[in-house]
Amino acid sequence: MAEFLASIFGTEKDKVNCSFYYKIGACRHGDRCSRIHNKPTFSQTVVLKNIYHNPQNGAQSVDGFYLAKHSDVEIQEHFDNFYEDVLVEMEDKYGEIEEMNICDNLGDHLAGNVYVKFRREEDAEKAAEDLNNRWFGGRPIYAELSPVTDFREACCRQYENDECIRSGFCNFMHLKTISRDLRRELFGRNKRDRRSESRCRRRRSFSPKRERRRSKSRKKEK
Ligand SMILES: [Zn+2]
Ligand SMILES: [Zn+2]
Repeated sequence: MAEFLASIFGTEKDKVNCSFYYKIGACRHGDRCSRIHNKPTFSQTVVLKNIYHNPQNGAQSVDGFYLAKHSDVEIQEHFDNFYEDVLVEMEDKYGEIEEMNICDNLGDHLAGNVYVKFRREEDAEKAAEDLNNRWFGGRPIYAELSPVTDFREACCRQYENDECIRSGFCNFMHLKTISRDLRRELFGRNKRDRRSESRCRRRRSFSPKRERRRSKSRKKEK
């Protein structure tokens, strides 16, 4: 019996544990799911929830960029900048990263989720704790350890072949890809030193919570 339960753990046959949470780290039922979401106590992966906003998916921000129409090239550039900002900040602050994936789904539980897989579990733990005290682009960050470490299992295969009929509301990950140039720059054989170069290029999208509060109260004093 134990063997049987182990063999179905996290699959659709498992009536106790949610297969979506297990494989994808997010389930559309959220906390109301009838199956258990086994939140990991150790993991290499941290998820930053709903942090990437694709300007193609409507005006979600007062930021001027989101309100205008954009060409595919501009959207890709915007995404590349975002990806680089986040990757560099994560490595600078918390440690070496194995891979980083960003969902372009539209469903609330997956939209704009950033999955950062660190080389060491300690770094992921530190990141998950610290990021919840920080802001990104003027919004608070929600981060937690994620059970996802094998992204091939989490991804929608149809999407990769451009055949997913559920489009943005698919419950498997639709990962947005960075440009080949950026991939070469960040992960290629002659990749540049991401840490040292980043400091001068940083757009400072990240900010600590405290700094922000202080600047708010300063405004009030005036
Ligand atoms: Zn669930
Ligand atoms: Zn899909």
